[in-house]
Amino acid sequence: MPEPVLSIRGLRKAFGAHVVLGGIDLDIAVGSIVGLLGPNGSGKSTLLDTVTGFVPKDAGRIELDGRAIESLDPGAISRRGLVRTFQLPRMPARMSVREVMLAAERSGSGLADALLGRRAPSALAVDGLLERLLLTPVAEQPASAISGGQKKLLSIAMALANRPRLLCLDEPTAGVHPNLRQEIMALLRDANAQGVTLVVVEHDMAFIRGLCPRCVVLDRGELIADCAPDDLADHPRVVEAYLGRAGAR
Ligand code: ADP
Ligand code: MG
Repeated sequence: MPEPVLSIRGLRKAFGAHVVLGGIDLDIAVGSIVGLLGPNGSGKSTLLDTVTGFVPKDAGRIELDGRAIESLDPGAISRRGLVRTFQLPRMPARMSVREVMLAAERSGSGLADALLGRRAPSALAVDGLLERLLLTPVAEQPASAISGGQKKLLSIAMALANRPRLLCLDEPTAGVHPNLRQEIMALLRDANAQGVTLVVVEHDMAFIRGLCPRCVVLDRGELIADCAPDDLADHPRVVEAYLGRAGAR
């Protein structure tokens, strides 16, 4: 495997007696797109929460570019290039859609880009992102007042404007109109072509098949599969735990 941008070893997290992550090992290769699947409550969001410094882990080692993530500091972690979106995005009060985009762009790896002499990739520029996600008509509205689906789109655009090297997306298409799912997929493919590594938590199997050459499945604290999406049906535990119950769409 090419060098991992993210390396997770023995990651454990319990809430009281409930073990949500029972010792997870996972490597994410630089430049890859990995789908993270699993039934509701299997710990997908908790995995992202622990990796991105929003929730303390109980045990284990998480390395970003070979260097341990020790601090519970999402801001510091995002400045190292690891950015995530939330299942239920919240927006700052009293800022317009365009203002939150510009803030995301400024807070991101602009410094690193300047140091490396790189220019902003044009497809990830603020106005281009707003246009592609059909947010231009609401660009001057308060970000806290747009619809849930629009907030989802805006949170993806904000994350990309931040110019991450590794972006973890928590259910990027949930609550988004089906017509826009193709555009999200195209945008994420373009971001990946420009070097952004992606981890995508998603239930929409068509979306996963279209975007992710590799997927991993969480269930009851363990990773129970790591394969191409088309090979998931060959894993009896996946069929029993996930495809059978949730229904492959
Ligand atoms: P998923 O994203 O796969 O649906 P989550 O990671 O959100 O699953 O949740 C995994 C389990 O951890 C669930 O049973 C959930 O109730 C529990 N959990 C998550 N966060 C907390 C918390 N802050 N306190 C207690 N239990 C939690
Ligand atoms: Mg979740």
